[in-house]
Amino acid sequence: MPTSNKFPAFTLAAGPTTVSARVLAAQGSPVSYHYDPVFLDRFRTLGELVGQVYGTDNDIILLQGEAVLGLEAAVVNVVRPGMKVINIANGPYGKGMGYWLAGHGAKVIEVETGFREVPTPEMIEEIASAHPDAEALAVVHVETPCGTVAPLKEIGEICRKYGFVSIVDAVASIGGVELRPDEWGLDICVAAPQKCLGGPSGMSLIAVSQAGWDLIEKNPDAPRDSFLSILDWKTKWLEGNKFPYTPSVSDVNGVIAACEQILEEGVDAAVSRHARTAEVCRAGVLAMGLELWPLDSATAANSVTAVKLPDGLNDAQVRDHIRERYGVMISGALGAGDLVRIGHMGETARSLHPIIGLSALGQGLRDLGHDVDIGIGIEVAMKALSDSPNP
Ligand SMILES: *Cc1c(COP(=O)(O)O)cnc(C)c1O
Repeated sequence: MPTSNKFPAFTLAAGPTTVSARVLAAQGSPVSYHYDPVFLDRFRTLGELVGQVYGTDNDIILLQGEAVLGLEAAVVNVVRPGMKVINIANGPYGKGMGYWLAGHGAKVIEVETGFREVPTPEMIEEIASAHPDAEALAVVHVETPCGTVAPLKEIGEICRKYGFVSIVDAVASIGGVELRPDEWGLDICVAAPQKCLGGPSGMSLIAVSQAGWDLIEKNPDAPRDSFLSILDWKTKWLEGNKFPYTPSVSDVNGVIAACEQILEEGVDAAVSRHARTAEVCRAGVLAMGLELWPLDSATAANSVTAVKLPDGLNDAQVRDHIRERYGVMISGALGAGDLVRIGHMGETARSLHPIIGLSALGQGLRDLGHDVDIGIGIEVAMKALSDSPNP
């Protein structure tokens, strides 16, 4: 248990991440009646902004619950008992998706690697060619607990080639890792504001293509008059300007501010900012003599760095020690293995944030009896930052 009830000075977790003053102020603005014309206009605007952040012309559905709602909704709206779905399961979120799919009666073909790896397009193509009768393919773009990124562009190509509807968990990639739903032909993407967009947690941001709708509309079991219904939002909100359920006004205001913020910066610029921060963080980890969790650093995600722990240490021990002694909150492993994670998402993907994470982790490990080269690590990370400034 923490010895005080104060939040730490720095939160470098893998989401929810630090929220800017602008987002906080927006969340603190008056809570209006949801059918007030001003709010109706805001809600419509939010749909447009989310579409711009995604860079898609597909329909945007905004469900009023944290991203797990959107992911579960994607499953229950699509899956008919007996339908074949390919699921890429190289981490806890991919595994969880597989349990949902099977739980709703899908015949799941799982593409598995260990949690320290990412399946190659060749591996996925091989499974796709063995199961051309599959109707959908599910993939997690950034497996946050493992700090890995999947080759989504190539996966999109495979889905188009075989006619699979893709279901993409883009929660930890939107705004921080290149994501192009239209160019890559992605069908049902689920994202959230609380990771790289630096917004509040409490909303699922879903983009649905025509092929995605076709599959959902083919499903007699797709829920209606349910909190999990994507179709309710299509027919009632998109086609009728009526809310199936009352949105959280404060969250909507906060997510609008988060979207405006990233659109003013430019999504590509934000993606590049995340890439440079991740570069600094990884360079520091390696120079300290530590190992990245992803076995191939080319598969390391740019929104979070997962660091393998030295033998004999567990994630909760390291994370709690660092928070208590240095006031820096990093993330544990979420069951993915013996690792801790330094998040660089949204506001924390710039400036000295990775240096703070690295120094706290390095000294924390030293306090716990493991020798790491903190000085060299910080020097190398600062050199990377100086070569590619990220103010
Ligand atoms: C954060 C995150 C989610 C949202 O789930 P929570 O466990 O509620 O935070 C879903 N998928 C991925 C890949 C995430 O990083």
